[in-house]
Amino acid sequence: MGAEEYLMQTINIRNISIKCGHCQTYQTLSGFEQGDERNIYTYECENDSCDPSMTRTLVEVPVDLDEFAQRDPQWRHGSS
Ligand SMILES: [Zn+2]
Repeated sequence: MGAEEYLMQTINIRNISIKCGHCQTYQTLSGFEQGDERNIYTYECENDSCDPSMTRTLVEVPVDLDEFAQRDPQWRHGSS
């Protein structure tokens, strides 16, 4: 294994903090959509300062690197 391969580690969305540029607070993971190439995680502000529809953040993670989804592929599925 070369150094380059070693750097290709997986991404666990739980290790990433998403901060809102508007209200300066951390956004909460509110949704997950599994794609063919990329999984999309949706983050929203949970306060009265921001309208979620205006400040919502979508984080795309390549499926191959998405450790969180691979560990728990059924997460959020089936819930409304
Ligand atoms: Zn905000």
